[in-house]
Amino acid sequence: MCSETSVRDATSPGNRGRCTRNLLDVIELDEQIRAVAGPLTSARDVTLLAHISPDADALGSALALGLALHRGGAKVRVSFAEPEDVPETLRCLDSAGLAVPATQVPEVPEVLVVLDTGSLQRLGELAGRVAATIDAGGAVVVIDHHASNPRYGTHHLIDDSAEATAVLVLALLDELGVTVDEPIARCLYAGLLTDTSSFRRATPATHATAGRLLEAGVAPDALGRELQDSHPFAWLPMLSTVLAGARLEPESARGLGLVHAAVPADAVAAVRTEEVEGVVDVVRGTTEAEVAVVLKELSPGRWTVSLRAKSRLDVRAVAQSLGGGGHRLAAGCTLDGSVEEALAALRTALAEAPLL
Ligand code: AMP
Ligand code: MN
Ligand code: MN
Repeated sequence: MCSETSVRDATSPGNRGRCTRNLLDVIELDEQIRAVAGPLTSARDVTLLAHISPDADALGSALALGLALHRGGAKVRVSFAEPEDVPETLRCLDSAGLAVPATQVPEVPEVLVVLDTGSLQRLGELAGRVAATIDAGGAVVVIDHHASNPRYGTHHLIDDSAEATAVLVLALLDELGVTVDEPIARCLYAGLLTDTSSFRRATPATHATAGRLLEAGVAPDALGRELQDSHPFAWLPMLSTVLAGARLEPESARGLGLVHAAVPADAVAAVRTEEVEGVVDVVRGTTEAEVAVVLKELSPGRWTVSLRAKSRLDVRAVAQSLGGGGHRLAAGCTLDGSVEEALAALRTALAEAPLL
Protein backbone atom coordinates (compact mmCIF):
# COMPACT_ATOMS: atom_id res chain seq x y z
CA MET A 1 0.00 0.00 0.00
CA CYS A 2 2.90 2.35 0.62
CA SER A 3 3.41 3.10 -3.07
CA GLU A 4 -0.14 4.41 -3.16
CA THR A 5 0.05 6.28 0.10
CA SER A 6 -0.34 10.03 0.02
CA VAL A 7 -0.08 12.53 2.82
CA ARG A 8 -3.79 12.17 3.47
CA ASP A 9 -3.58 8.44 4.11
CA ALA A 10 -1.05 9.06 6.77
CA THR A 11 -3.15 11.73 8.46
CA SER A 12 -6.34 9.75 8.76
CA PRO A 13 -6.97 8.47 12.30
CA GLY A 14 -4.97 5.38 13.05
CA ASN A 15 -2.77 5.83 10.02
CA ARG A 16 -0.44 8.58 11.17
CA GLY A 17 3.14 7.56 10.67
CA ARG A 18 2.26 4.12 9.31
CA CYS A 19 4.08 4.60 6.02
CA THR A 20 7.47 6.22 5.55
CA ARG A 21 7.32 6.88 1.81
CA ASN A 22 6.03 10.42 2.13
CA LEU A 23 7.27 11.05 5.64
CA LEU A 24 8.47 14.57 4.87
CA ASP A 25 5.13 15.42 3.25
CA VAL A 26 3.30 13.96 6.23
CA ILE A 27 5.35 16.01 8.69
CA GLU A 28 4.81 19.13 6.60
CA LEU A 29 1.06 18.55 6.40
CA ASP A 30 0.88 17.87 10.13
CA GLU A 31 2.66 21.18 10.72
CA GLN A 32 0.21 22.99 8.45
CA ILE A 33 -2.76 21.42 10.24
CA ARG A 34 -1.42 22.44 13.65
CA ALA A 35 -0.67 25.95 12.37
CA VAL A 36 -4.20 26.58 11.09
CA ALA A 37 -5.79 24.98 14.16
CA GLY A 38 -4.17 27.69 16.32
CA PRO A 39 -6.24 30.74 15.33
CA LEU A 40 -9.41 28.62 15.06
CA THR A 41 -9.18 27.19 18.57
CA SER A 42 -9.42 30.62 20.18
CA ALA A 43 -11.70 32.29 17.60
CA ARG A 44 -14.96 33.84 18.88
CA ASP A 45 -16.24 35.19 15.55
CA VAL A 46 -15.43 33.38 12.31
CA THR A 47 -16.34 34.16 8.70
CA LEU A 48 -15.91 31.27 6.25
CA LEU A 49 -15.88 31.99 2.51
CA ALA A 50 -16.30 29.74 -0.51
CA HIS A 51 -15.44 30.64 -4.12
CA ILE A 52 -17.94 32.24 -6.49
CA SER A 53 -20.48 29.78 -7.92
CA PRO A 54 -19.75 27.51 -4.97
CA ASP A 55 -19.74 23.77 -5.54
CA ALA A 56 -20.31 21.01 -3.00
CA ASP A 57 -16.63 20.91 -2.04
CA ALA A 58 -16.32 24.66 -1.42
CA LEU A 59 -19.62 25.09 0.42
CA GLY A 60 -19.57 21.67 2.08
CA SER A 61 -16.06 22.30 3.44
CA ALA A 62 -17.04 25.75 4.72
CA LEU A 63 -20.24 24.46 6.35
CA ALA A 64 -18.53 21.43 7.92
CA LEU A 65 -15.87 23.57 9.59
CA GLY A 66 -18.45 26.27 10.33
CA LEU A 67 -20.73 23.76 12.07
CA ALA A 68 -17.87 22.53 14.24
CA LEU A 69 -16.84 26.06 15.28
CA HIS A 70 -20.47 27.07 15.81
CA ARG A 71 -20.94 24.12 18.13
CA GLY A 72 -17.81 25.17 19.98
CA GLY A 73 -19.53 28.46 20.81
CA ALA A 74 -18.15 30.79 18.13
CA LYS A 75 -20.33 33.15 16.12
CA VAL A 76 -20.10 31.75 12.60
CA ARG A 77 -21.22 32.85 9.15
CA VAL A 78 -20.60 31.18 5.77
CA SER A 79 -20.80 33.12 2.54
CA PHE A 80 -19.67 33.59 -1.09
CA ALA A 81 -19.84 36.53 -3.48
CA GLU A 82 -22.19 35.11 -6.11
CA PRO A 83 -24.84 34.02 -6.86
CA GLU A 84 -26.95 35.74 -4.20
CA ASP A 85 -28.48 32.58 -2.74
CA VAL A 86 -27.19 29.14 -1.88
CA PRO A 87 -27.72 26.93 -4.96
CA GLU A 88 -30.87 24.85 -4.39
CA THR A 89 -29.11 21.48 -4.54
CA LEU A 90 -26.63 22.54 -1.83
CA ARG A 91 -29.24 23.80 0.67
CA CYS A 92 -29.46 20.35 2.24
CA LEU A 93 -25.92 20.90 3.56
CA ASP A 94 -26.75 23.98 5.62
CA SER A 95 -28.46 22.20 8.52
CA ALA A 96 -27.82 25.02 11.02
CA GLY A 97 -28.62 27.97 8.72
CA LEU A 98 -25.06 29.34 8.76
CA ALA A 99 -25.10 30.70 5.19
CA VAL A 100 -25.62 34.45 4.85
CA PRO A 101 -25.71 36.73 1.78
CA ALA A 102 -22.45 38.45 0.84
CA THR A 103 -23.93 41.76 2.00
CA GLN A 104 -23.88 40.44 5.59
CA VAL A 105 -20.17 39.66 5.60
CA PRO A 106 -18.41 42.13 7.97
CA GLU A 107 -16.16 44.69 6.27
CA VAL A 108 -13.36 43.57 8.59
CA PRO A 109 -13.88 39.97 9.72
CA GLU A 110 -12.18 38.97 12.99
CA VAL A 111 -11.03 35.63 11.65
CA LEU A 112 -11.47 34.69 8.00
CA VAL A 113 -11.32 31.15 6.60
CA VAL A 114 -11.23 30.78 2.80
CA LEU A 115 -11.92 27.32 1.41
CA ASP A 116 -11.37 25.63 -1.96
CA THR A 117 -10.44 28.98 -3.52
CA GLY A 118 -7.27 28.82 -5.63
CA SER A 119 -6.89 32.57 -6.11
CA LEU A 120 -8.16 35.82 -4.59
CA GLN A 121 -9.97 36.56 -7.83
CA ARG A 122 -12.22 33.52 -7.20
CA LEU A 123 -13.65 35.31 -4.14
CA GLY A 124 -15.25 37.86 -6.48
CA GLU A 125 -16.36 41.02 -4.71
CA LEU A 126 -15.43 39.55 -1.31
CA ALA A 127 -11.72 39.38 -2.22
CA GLY A 128 -11.04 42.68 -0.41
CA ARG A 129 -12.01 41.07 2.95
CA VAL A 130 -8.69 39.20 2.92
CA ALA A 131 -6.52 42.35 2.95
CA ALA A 132 -8.95 44.07 5.36
CA THR A 133 -8.60 41.22 7.86
CA ILE A 134 -4.81 41.03 7.57
CA ASP A 135 -4.45 44.84 7.86
CA ALA A 136 -6.47 44.74 11.08
CA GLY A 137 -4.16 42.06 12.50
CA GLY A 138 -6.66 39.22 12.07
CA ALA A 139 -5.93 35.70 10.84
CA VAL A 140 -6.79 34.59 7.30
CA VAL A 141 -6.76 30.80 7.11
CA VAL A 142 -6.61 29.37 3.58
CA ILE A 143 -7.62 25.69 3.14
CA ASP A 144 -7.33 24.43 -0.42
CA HIS A 145 -6.23 21.71 -2.84
CA HIS A 146 -5.38 23.82 -5.90
CA ALA A 147 -1.68 23.50 -6.81
CA SER A 148 -1.64 27.06 -8.12
CA ASN A 149 -2.79 28.60 -4.81
CA PRO A 150 -0.48 31.60 -4.21
CA ARG A 151 -0.89 31.41 -0.40
CA TYR A 152 -2.67 34.71 0.07
CA GLY A 153 -3.55 34.28 3.77
CA THR A 154 -1.71 34.32 7.09
CA HIS A 155 -2.12 30.56 7.81
CA HIS A 156 -2.27 27.89 5.10
CA LEU A 157 -3.43 24.29 4.83
CA ILE A 158 -2.79 23.55 1.17
CA ASP A 159 -2.24 20.09 -0.31
CA ASP A 160 -2.70 19.60 -4.03
CA SER A 161 -2.62 15.82 -3.62
CA ALA A 162 -5.92 15.99 -1.71
CA GLU A 163 -8.81 15.11 -4.04
CA ALA A 164 -11.06 17.59 -2.27
CA THR A 165 -10.76 20.43 0.23
CA ALA A 166 -13.17 18.37 2.34
CA VAL A 167 -10.35 15.85 2.96
CA LEU A 168 -8.21 18.61 4.48
CA VAL A 169 -11.10 19.91 6.57
CA LEU A 170 -11.62 16.42 8.01
CA ALA A 171 -7.95 16.23 8.99
CA LEU A 172 -8.31 19.64 10.66
CA LEU A 173 -11.49 18.58 12.51
CA ASP A 174 -9.61 15.56 13.84
CA GLU A 175 -6.82 17.86 15.05
CA LEU A 176 -9.42 20.06 16.75
CA GLY A 177 -10.95 17.00 18.44
CA VAL A 178 -14.35 17.56 16.82
CA THR A 179 -16.87 14.71 16.79
CA VAL A 180 -17.85 14.18 13.16
CA ASP A 181 -21.58 13.62 13.36
CA GLU A 182 -24.03 13.23 10.48
CA PRO A 183 -24.55 16.94 9.59
CA ILE A 184 -20.79 17.53 9.40
CA ALA A 185 -20.18 14.19 7.65
CA ARG A 186 -22.88 15.04 5.07
CA CYS A 187 -21.05 18.24 4.11
CA LEU A 188 -17.71 16.46 3.78
CA TYR A 189 -19.16 13.52 1.86
CA ALA A 190 -20.75 15.96 -0.61
CA GLY A 191 -17.34 17.49 -1.35
CA LEU A 192 -15.72 14.09 -1.78
CA LEU A 193 -18.51 12.81 -4.02
CA THR A 194 -18.43 15.71 -6.46
CA ASP A 195 -14.68 16.42 -6.55
CA THR A 196 -13.77 12.76 -7.22
CA SER A 197 -16.35 12.30 -10.03
CA SER A 198 -18.44 10.10 -7.75
CA PHE A 199 -15.37 8.35 -6.27
CA ARG A 200 -14.03 7.29 -9.66
CA ARG A 201 -10.84 9.25 -8.98
CA ALA A 202 -10.70 8.47 -5.26
CA THR A 203 -7.70 6.72 -3.72
CA PRO A 204 -8.17 3.75 -1.38
CA ALA A 205 -7.64 6.14 1.54
CA THR A 206 -10.41 8.43 0.31
CA HIS A 207 -12.77 5.46 -0.04
CA ALA A 208 -11.90 4.64 3.57
CA THR A 209 -12.65 8.23 4.55
CA ALA A 210 -16.01 7.96 2.77
CA GLY A 211 -16.67 4.79 4.78
CA ARG A 212 -16.03 6.71 7.98
CA LEU A 213 -18.52 9.39 6.87
CA LEU A 214 -21.14 6.72 6.04
CA GLU A 215 -20.66 5.25 9.50
CA ALA A 216 -21.42 8.72 10.89
CA GLY A 217 -24.86 8.37 9.29
CA VAL A 218 -24.65 9.88 5.79
CA ALA A 219 -27.36 8.53 3.45
CA PRO A 220 -25.39 8.33 0.18
CA ASP A 221 -28.27 7.50 -2.15
CA ALA A 222 -30.53 10.37 -1.06
CA LEU A 223 -27.65 12.85 -0.86
CA GLY A 224 -26.21 11.84 -4.25
CA ARG A 225 -29.63 12.12 -5.88
CA GLU A 226 -30.18 15.57 -4.37
CA LEU A 227 -26.73 16.83 -5.37
CA GLN A 228 -26.36 15.31 -8.82
CA ASP A 229 -29.46 13.67 -10.25
CA SER A 230 -32.40 16.00 -9.59
CA HIS A 231 -33.39 18.48 -12.28
CA PRO A 232 -36.51 20.44 -13.21
CA PHE A 233 -38.15 19.33 -16.46
CA ALA A 234 -36.75 22.45 -18.21
CA TRP A 235 -33.35 20.70 -18.05
CA LEU A 236 -34.39 18.30 -20.82
CA PRO A 237 -35.31 20.84 -23.58
CA MET A 238 -32.34 23.00 -22.57
CA LEU A 239 -29.97 20.05 -22.84
CA SER A 240 -31.49 19.02 -26.14
CA THR A 241 -30.88 22.46 -27.70
CA VAL A 242 -27.38 22.83 -26.31
CA LEU A 243 -26.25 19.32 -27.27
CA ALA A 244 -27.64 19.74 -30.80
CA GLY A 245 -25.05 22.49 -31.21
CA ALA A 246 -22.12 20.43 -29.88
CA ARG A 247 -19.20 19.97 -32.27
CA LEU A 248 -16.36 17.46 -32.45
CA GLU A 249 -12.94 18.60 -33.71
CA PRO A 250 -10.71 15.51 -33.93
CA GLU A 251 -7.61 17.52 -34.94
CA SER A 252 -7.82 20.03 -32.08
CA ALA A 253 -6.14 19.66 -28.68
CA ARG A 254 -2.88 18.42 -30.21
CA GLY A 255 -4.75 15.89 -32.32
CA LEU A 256 -6.31 14.27 -29.24
CA GLY A 257 -9.75 15.66 -30.04
CA LEU A 258 -11.90 18.48 -28.73
CA VAL A 259 -15.65 18.46 -28.18
CA HIS A 260 -17.37 21.72 -27.37
CA ALA A 261 -20.83 23.09 -26.70
CA ALA A 262 -22.14 26.52 -25.79
CA VAL A 263 -24.92 27.46 -23.39
CA PRO A 264 -26.12 30.88 -24.59
CA ALA A 265 -27.79 33.40 -22.30
CA ASP A 266 -31.36 32.32 -23.16
CA ALA A 267 -30.56 28.70 -22.30
CA VAL A 268 -28.88 29.81 -19.07
CA ALA A 269 -32.01 31.77 -18.16
CA ALA A 270 -34.25 28.70 -18.60
CA VAL A 271 -32.69 26.64 -15.77
CA ARG A 272 -30.82 26.84 -12.44
CA THR A 273 -27.04 27.20 -12.23
CA GLU A 274 -26.89 23.50 -11.32
CA GLU A 275 -28.22 22.51 -14.76
CA VAL A 276 -25.84 24.89 -16.55
CA GLU A 277 -22.86 23.54 -14.60
CA GLY A 278 -23.98 19.98 -15.31
CA VAL A 279 -23.74 20.26 -19.11
CA VAL A 280 -20.00 19.58 -19.12
CA ASP A 281 -20.58 16.26 -17.34
CA VAL A 282 -22.61 15.09 -20.33
CA VAL A 283 -20.30 16.50 -23.00
CA ARG A 284 -17.13 15.12 -21.40
CA GLY A 285 -18.28 11.55 -22.05
CA THR A 286 -17.50 11.87 -25.79
CA THR A 287 -15.04 9.06 -26.52
CA GLU A 288 -13.48 10.70 -29.59
CA ALA A 289 -12.28 13.74 -27.62
CA GLU A 290 -9.62 14.02 -24.92
CA VAL A 291 -10.84 17.52 -24.08
CA ALA A 292 -14.37 18.80 -23.46
CA VAL A 293 -15.16 22.49 -23.34
CA VAL A 294 -18.47 24.07 -22.35
CA LEU A 295 -18.93 27.82 -22.74
CA LYS A 296 -21.61 29.37 -20.53
CA GLU A 297 -22.89 32.87 -21.23
CA LEU A 298 -23.55 33.83 -17.62
CA SER A 299 -23.58 37.52 -18.54
CA PRO A 300 -24.04 38.96 -22.06
CA GLY A 301 -20.92 38.51 -24.21
CA ARG A 302 -18.97 36.97 -21.32
CA TRP A 303 -18.30 33.22 -21.43
CA THR A 304 -17.51 31.24 -18.31
CA VAL A 305 -15.60 28.25 -19.65
CA SER A 306 -15.37 24.75 -18.18
CA LEU A 307 -12.52 22.60 -19.46
CA ARG A 308 -12.20 18.88 -18.81
CA ALA A 309 -9.53 16.41 -19.92
CA LYS A 310 -9.64 12.65 -19.56
CA SER A 311 -6.00 11.90 -18.70
CA ARG A 312 -3.51 13.06 -21.32
CA LEU A 313 -3.64 16.86 -21.51
CA ASP A 314 -3.11 19.52 -18.85
CA VAL A 315 -6.14 21.82 -19.10
CA ARG A 316 -5.06 23.81 -16.03
CA ALA A 317 -2.16 25.17 -18.10
CA VAL A 318 -4.64 26.06 -20.86
CA ALA A 319 -6.96 27.85 -18.41
CA GLN A 320 -4.04 29.64 -16.77
CA SER A 321 -2.78 30.90 -20.12
CA LEU A 322 -6.23 32.47 -20.57
CA GLY A 323 -6.37 34.02 -17.10
CA GLY A 324 -8.11 31.18 -15.26
CA GLY A 325 -6.96 28.13 -13.30
CA GLY A 326 -8.06 24.88 -11.73
CA HIS A 327 -6.77 21.31 -11.75
CA ARG A 328 -4.93 19.40 -14.49
CA LEU A 329 -8.07 17.54 -15.59
CA ALA A 330 -10.73 20.12 -14.62
CA ALA A 331 -10.18 23.82 -15.06
CA GLY A 332 -11.93 27.02 -16.03
CA CYS A 333 -11.54 30.57 -17.23
CA THR A 334 -13.63 33.53 -18.38
CA LEU A 335 -13.49 34.90 -21.93
CA ASP A 336 -15.12 38.00 -23.47
CA GLY A 337 -16.47 38.32 -27.01
CA SER A 338 -18.44 36.09 -29.35
CA VAL A 339 -18.53 32.34 -28.87
CA GLU A 340 -16.39 31.94 -32.03
CA GLU A 341 -13.78 34.33 -30.64
CA ALA A 342 -13.72 32.44 -27.35
CA LEU A 343 -13.37 29.12 -29.19
CA ALA A 344 -10.53 30.49 -31.34
CA ALA A 345 -8.60 31.50 -28.19
CA LEU A 346 -9.25 28.07 -26.67
CA ARG A 347 -8.11 26.21 -29.83
CA THR A 348 -4.87 28.19 -29.89
CA ALA A 349 -4.17 27.54 -26.21
CA LEU A 350 -5.08 23.85 -26.54
CA ALA A 351 -2.66 23.46 -29.45
CA GLU A 352 0.15 24.29 -27.00
CA ALA A 353 -1.18 22.45 -23.95
CA PRO A 354 1.35 20.32 -22.05
CA LEU A 355 0.84 16.58 -22.37
CA LEU A 356 0.58 14.61 -19.12
P1 AMP B 1 -15.73 24.41 -13.25
O1 AMP B 1 -15.58 24.10 -14.69
O2 AMP B 1 -16.36 25.73 -12.99
O3 AMP B 1 -16.36 23.29 -12.51
O4 AMP B 1 -14.26 24.55 -12.66
C1 AMP B 1 -13.33 23.50 -12.71
C2 AMP B 1 -12.13 23.85 -11.88
O5 AMP B 1 -11.49 25.00 -12.41
C3 AMP B 1 -12.44 24.18 -10.44
O6 AMP B 1 -11.51 23.51 -9.65
C4 AMP B 1 -12.26 25.66 -10.30
O7 AMP B 1 -11.64 25.94 -9.10
C5 AMP B 1 -11.35 26.02 -11.44
N1 AMP B 1 -11.74 27.28 -12.07
C6 AMP B 1 -12.87 27.50 -12.78
N2 AMP B 1 -12.92 28.75 -13.25
C7 AMP B 1 -11.79 29.37 -12.82
C8 AMP B 1 -11.25 30.69 -12.96
N3 AMP B 1 -11.87 31.65 -13.66
N4 AMP B 1 -10.07 30.95 -12.37
C9 AMP B 1 -9.42 29.99 -11.66
N5 AMP B 1 -9.87 28.73 -11.51
C10 AMP B 1 -11.04 28.42 -12.06
MN1 MN C 1 -14.57 24.10 -6.01
MN1 MN D 1 -12.45 21.32 -4.61
